[in-house]
Amino acid sequence: MRCQECGGEYRNSSEPIIYRVHGEDITVEGIEHRVCDGCGDELLSLKNTSALQRRANDEYRTRHGFLSGEEIKAIRTSFNATQEEFQRVIRSGPKSMTRWEKGTVLQTGVTDTLLRVLRRFPMAYHWLEIEISDASFEQDTKSAMCN
Ligand SMILES: [Zn+2]
Repeated sequence: MRCQECGGEYRNSSEPIIYRVHGEDITVEGIEHRVCDGCGDELLSLKNTSALQRRANDEYRTRHGFLSGEEIKAIRTSFNATQEEFQRVIRSGPKSMTRWEKGTVLQTGVTDTLLRVLRRFPMAYHWLEIEISDASFEQDTKSAMCN
């Protein structure tokens, strides 16, 4: 297989890969991949891409003391919330809980802080649930008035 960028040849490699997490370069070792001998382009299988992301995120998490996927899941389930319900209450994007809990995407510092606050003060979650449903009620009323 030839490189689409430079026409170079790919060779197998397990050399360290540098992966950027929240602006910080993390070196991950032992991930099988292919490297173009011309331009250095790296090719990874889908499975090894997930492994790379998880390992890099784990390293960042250790360095900066972020919550792990298991801890995030434990916080969510302590409120008996599905991933979709939890996402709605904290207003995160679709699939974000799945990604954070699996560890393929690392939560931002602000999200990590929010999750810690919710763990320490569960009442804040219930307050948010009410706040969010009030906000959507207000929106419904407004759009009804516009019609
Ligand atoms: Zn190349």
